[in-house]
Amino acid sequence: MLMSDFSRTFIISMVALLLVACGPEDSAINTQSSTIDNNKTFQWKMVTTWPPGFPVLQEGAERFADNIKAMSNGRLEIKVYAGGELIPPLQTFDAVSQGTVEMGHGSAYYWAGKVPEAQFFSTVPFGMTARGMNAWLYDGGGLELWREIYKPFHVVPFPLGNTGVQMGGWFNKEINSLDDIKGLKMRIPGLGGKVFAKAGGNPVLLAGSEVYTALERNTIDATEWIGPYHDQRLGLYRAADHYYYPGWHEPGTVLELTINERAWMSLPEDLQAIVSNAAQAENVRMLSEMEQKNMSALQELRDRKNVQIHHFPDDVLAKLKTLTDETLQEEAEKDPKFKRVFDAYQQFRQQNDDWSAISENAYLAIDKD
Ligand code: CA
Repeated sequence: MLMSDFSRTFIISMVALLLVACGPEDSAINTQSSTIDNNKTFQWKMVTTWPPGFPVLQEGAERFADNIKAMSNGRLEIKVYAGGELIPPLQTFDAVSQGTVEMGHGSAYYWAGKVPEAQFFSTVPFGMTARGMNAWLYDGGGLELWREIYKPFHVVPFPLGNTGVQMGGWFNKEINSLDDIKGLKMRIPGLGGKVFAKAGGNPVLLAGSEVYTALERNTIDATEWIGPYHDQRLGLYRAADHYYYPGWHEPGTVLELTINERAWMSLPEDLQAIVSNAAQAENVRMLSEMEQKNMSALQELRDRKNVQIHHFPDDVLAKLKTLTDETLQEEAEKDPKFKRVFDAYQQFRQQNDDWSAISENAYLAIDKD
């Protein structure tokens, strides 16, 4: 309800009088805006695309909900459900869009069938790493564009986590040239899979739960998953000998929080600020956790599991890069919406590459031993 200027002035005067009436130790709790109803509570549901208890990703979504509860003094309580507990993993976007639940956590490339251009807000082969993605999303216009893309679905997106640079995957033989990829059956989803097919490979779609068995029984010759930490937990080192890097197909996969637009609008400003800032905090926290866990798992795989870790040959990477450019161009020609986001992404990526070349990359390239 709109308040007249008179009644707003009246309320503010009354609040001021009350503050004067309170002792100094009481005043801190009375300084909130008069428009916020502190007695109104919100009980929300969040559904994710992750298996129950999935380390870092599901755990991070749960920590995010716990932090919001603590910061809002229980006014916003979010119950988090893993994939399949309430909604099948790949239907979480629709559930948030339709308002069946208020929140979702996953990654934008899962909705590529419905919103192909959403992939740029997740990751694309040879695209930006977490640093570039955060710069684009928070400060380079990326998030505004993302909100616009999801607007017709009544979904408000936020970045909420990043896997960091993934690994290239596990192979049952060495990859010394592009010929070694020909006919290779590999679990590699999304645009990476399309590029892999152009290179002569045979991309296979498999859910995470089927990956280990398929590789172990030679139903597939290779698979990518995430990074050393999650790959080790899945036991992939027992199913294939050769572990390749870098993850050219997923250089920094952004995880997303999605909120139903009507639910978001129903929150008072202070709770919106809590959600938005908790999302930024968790975005950093999840990436940091991934980095730390990946570095110790890499050491374990190399030193104790005797895994052979290889860099993809430079000419294989160069060819995959060329095929990626072709794939993205083809998708852009088919679809003006895809093209619009692709152009914005490319423009930012170019600037990011220029700056990174003389900052982070140049620094890391110094021999410091
Ligand atoms: Ca992956």
